[in-house]
Amino acid sequence: QRSGFCKSNSIFYSKRNPTAHPPNNSLDVTTFISSRAHHGKIAFIDASTGAKLTFAELWRAVDSVATCLSNMGVRKGHVILLLSPNSIFFPVVCLAVMSLGAVITTTNPLNTPREIAKQIADSKPVLAFTTRQLVPKLAGSNLRIVLLDEQSIPAVQNAKIVATLEELLKKQPSGARVRDQVDQDDTATLLYSSGTTGASKGVVGSHRNLIAMVQIVLNRFKLDDGEHRFICTVPMFHIYGLAVFALALLASGTTVVILSKYELHEMLSAIKKYRVTYLPLVPPILVALVNGADQIRAKYDLSSLQAVLSGGAPLGKEMIEGFVEKYSTVTILQGYGLTESTGVGASTDSLEESRRYGTAGLLSPCMNGKIVDTETGEALPVNRTGELWLTGPSIMKGYFSNAEATASTLDSEGWLKTGDLCYIDDDGFIFVVDRLKELIKYKGYQVPPAELEALLLTHPEISDAAVIPIPDKEAGQCPMAYVVRKAGSNLSEGAVMDFIAGQVAPYKKIRRVAFIASVPKNPSGKILRKDLIQLSTSKL
Ligand code: AMP
Repeated sequence: QRSGFCKSNSIFYSKRNPTAHPPNNSLDVTTFISSRAHHGKIAFIDASTGAKLTFAELWRAVDSVATCLSNMGVRKGHVILLLSPNSIFFPVVCLAVMSLGAVITTTNPLNTPREIAKQIADSKPVLAFTTRQLVPKLAGSNLRIVLLDEQSIPAVQNAKIVATLEELLKKQPSGARVRDQVDQDDTATLLYSSGTTGASKGVVGSHRNLIAMVQIVLNRFKLDDGEHRFICTVPMFHIYGLAVFALALLASGTTVVILSKYELHEMLSAIKKYRVTYLPLVPPILVALVNGADQIRAKYDLSSLQAVLSGGAPLGKEMIEGFVEKYSTVTILQGYGLTESTGVGASTDSLEESRRYGTAGLLSPCMNGKIVDTETGEALPVNRTGELWLTGPSIMKGYFSNAEATASTLDSEGWLKTGDLCYIDDDGFIFVVDRLKELIKYKGYQVPPAELEALLLTHPEISDAAVIPIPDKEAGQCPMAYVVRKAGSNLSEGAVMDFIAGQVAPYKKIRRVAFIASVPKNPSGKILRKDLIQLSTSKL
């Protein structure tokens, strides 16, 4: 096992030792996780209702749902859409689907029917699981629907509701169901990400990718004493929530308290009530914890808390220092990763590592990195800044039905171009300096500028547009639009914002508009976003 930086090929090898070897090729992710028995203990608690699922109940539920899906004709390779807030049954559906070799695709419940319809047209699911409240978002899709939250099938206009989860759970699991052979190269997940450029694309995640991530998370937390309780504040439709909460922590036998969606006071009450020890979050939640620290500590007993784990977006030095000052008994850890790397590509695993303020941590076990000069393509040594490339067993297979995007993101040796500008120091710690790719992250949610630009161009009074990120204390970043009006138009900033707000999920709303004479572009027509970012900061 090589570790550290290798001068001859300019590759950074992970300094962390894997504690387990990958299992044999014919083990699917569901069997891999279920083989680690934790019967009797509680797997999931619903924070708002107090409903609990033991490990034994969970695996029985997975079996029942898989049997019913098989009887409904679901086979290897079929795609199933899961449109749901976090719930204790979210992991059940995912594990049941993947156990059949079928593929789970998730989507943000905040997305509009139009955004969801686009994902359906791309991924072509054969069935959807959703809640009664979210059924209207599938209107027009003609998809068969299983309702997650009703006891019997209600009559809902224009919806093909074929069953309720409750009915599926009553089914006796039968070993005789049709089950195709599943190998680790088979696809397990199709999560949507815009990658380095353009609109959202399906990230093809394999059983191997997920097993590798489960092993990385197990290696990181070493939770075998079973004393820990995690709280899930991040969405399970995103790789962060799915890989860590729906899968990896199950394999460790840890109890997870689930919030259907993040709300500060509900989260704090649940930490107090369930004596939560680990709090994974995205930076905006950490900002709220720091800003409201005095009132929070007066009202909530957070003495059980041992660590917060921040990931999904950059966390500034100032915030880390603020947190350490206000919550001195709680360790703050960072994680860096992408949907395309199935989650954690690098992390800090101790307070001492996190104290290198600003670092995203050391490469995860079995992960290799390269820092590539964006102009020359040359791999750079330590302390030099360039694009971070990653390889390892958790790197995606590619983008679904999109050979062009796959070829520009994965090179012929399987290196993933992250689109993040980074350097790696003498000790192997990664520092994310900037984002090269277009992606905007609002509270950790992906906002692809290309999608907003395409919408802006449908406005009859807009001749050209470009969308860039602007910094925001609370959200991390917000989308801002530079708009070129057609001759004679008096279109206002507010009208542009309303036009977009009416068509996109709330987290994608444009929060600032400026008018310009023309959008700066390079000779091949590519928007010079950095110029616009500079322009936006000079006008602040
Ligand atoms: P997603 O695919 O939604 O997980 O977004 C991945 C992107 O989020 C990365 O390529 C980074 O730009 C950003 N990101 C995730 N974690 C971190 C972190 N700890 N520090 C800085 N940026 C991060």
